[in-house]
Amino acid sequence: MSEGRPREGGDAEATLDPADWAEFRALAHRMVDDTLEELASLRERPAWQPMPDDVRASFREPLPLGGEGSESVYRQFTERVRPYPNGNLHPRFWGWVQGNGTPLGMMAEMLAAALNPHMAGFDQAPALVEHQVIAWLAELMGMPPETSGVLVTGGTMASTIGLAVARHARAGFDVRAEGLQGSRPRLLVYGSTETHGWARKAAELLGLGSSALRLVPVDAEYRIDVEALRRAVAADRAAGHRPFCVIGTAGTVNTGATDDLRALAAFCREEGLWFHVDGAFGALAAWSDALRPIVAGIEEADSVGFDLHKWGYLPFEVACVLVRDPEAHRAAFATTASYLEGAERGVIAGGIPFAERGLDLTRGFKALKVWMSLKAHGVRAIARLIEQNVEQARGLADRVEQDPELDLLAPVPLNVVCFRYTRAGLADEALNAINREILIRLQEEGVAVPSGTTLAGRYAIRVANVNHRSRREDFAALADAVVRIGREVGDAVA
Ligand SMILES: *Cc1c(COP(=O)(O)O)cnc(C)c1O
Repeated sequence: MSEGRPREGGDAEATLDPADWAEFRALAHRMVDDTLEELASLRERPAWQPMPDDVRASFREPLPLGGEGSESVYRQFTERVRPYPNGNLHPRFWGWVQGNGTPLGMMAEMLAAALNPHMAGFDQAPALVEHQVIAWLAELMGMPPETSGVLVTGGTMASTIGLAVARHARAGFDVRAEGLQGSRPRLLVYGSTETHGWARKAAELLGLGSSALRLVPVDAEYRIDVEALRRAVAADRAAGHRPFCVIGTAGTVNTGATDDLRALAAFCREEGLWFHVDGAFGALAAWSDALRPIVAGIEEADSVGFDLHKWGYLPFEVACVLVRDPEAHRAAFATTASYLEGAERGVIAGGIPFAERGLDLTRGFKALKVWMSLKAHGVRAIARLIEQNVEQARGLADRVEQDPELDLLAPVPLNVVCFRYTRAGLADEALNAINREILIRLQEEGVAVPSGTTLAGRYAIRVANVNHRSRREDFAALADAVVRIGREVGDAVA
């Protein structure tokens, strides 16, 4: 293929459009067909496979100064890249919290890239799509219609924006102008010890410092101890500090626990604190009538950050931050630049609202895959899948509880199951080593991809189920494999 080379004929001006559209079209159709073929046959392949050394080595090539053409690079993609992903497409992938993506989401990504709109705002239909999606997401969360929001890369960015709005709204001085370098009272933010690592990054980045993130203990169900929170805030106020925000978690990354969001909302109201909810995956429980009680109180938050690329099943990347007070949202980010000056008519009409709700100026059309997915599948079908994932997790937990060789290590309120292989007479240290080995072998054998965590000194195999492709038998296969490998590894150390 000859794209990127000068056009034939007199003018010799270059373009990256194909010189031969028919030839490119044939290749493009092949890309789509091959990809759908792969997606339709995922179950026949291992959940993950280690990469051969020659494949690994092949990614150290000289800088390609001359082009080899689309056909050649696509062949290399099919041989060296496509076969070696981390496995999250697969029906038996439950590691960390990673979604599968969907075929429709994939096609929406292609359409979004093809249209390639600049999503700072502007008077264009794609901007209306994002406004529509944000309104739907606010409604699903039970927040008021005027709620502001923006789609971002992930839960980390969504919640960081929430915390940035909180900092600006509740600092008690003009934090945008003055920064945090003066001798003001220290601004403090609270979460539980189960708060995800985004909060530390955000506290550091926002100039609060990680020591301004106060981590409050949890109860036996891994939910924040609200009385301990109350005491911590009172003690910090007495010491002359300025508490400004509480982070509640809907669906902790370790065990899927949800803080008592109603109690946190009430506490924040009493204390004049901003209430942010990190609902990276758990917030989507609100989409299901059956599960919504678990996250009750989320609708009272000042801001909520959540992913759509986890329990919304959409391809990476897409997440959303919702902010109840649209003025507070805008006030935290809006700037004025003469080259972005608004107008009543023309392309700039409608302004650049999305650029004023976060850090990004140029943004892609993430909203299209959300809009297409919600409309094509319908909220009810997606909510049903979320319920299915919870039922599957509870089913696995039941199996674990019935099996004397397996041990459930945490309650299963949602879609996360933490368990281990066990045998009589072995201390935690030995069991930890055995279960670490089981986890790696599960992955290397291609059986399944759970991940691990440590709960109260006990190493757990952790299944976080946001997988729309899993079936009940996949969880049975996992439990069987853990017992089989556990016996082998256990016999070797005994
Ligand atoms: C995944 C996760 C995050 C971070 O979201 P990203 O999309 O990975 O940036 C934050 N909080 C919780 C509870 C999570 O599970």
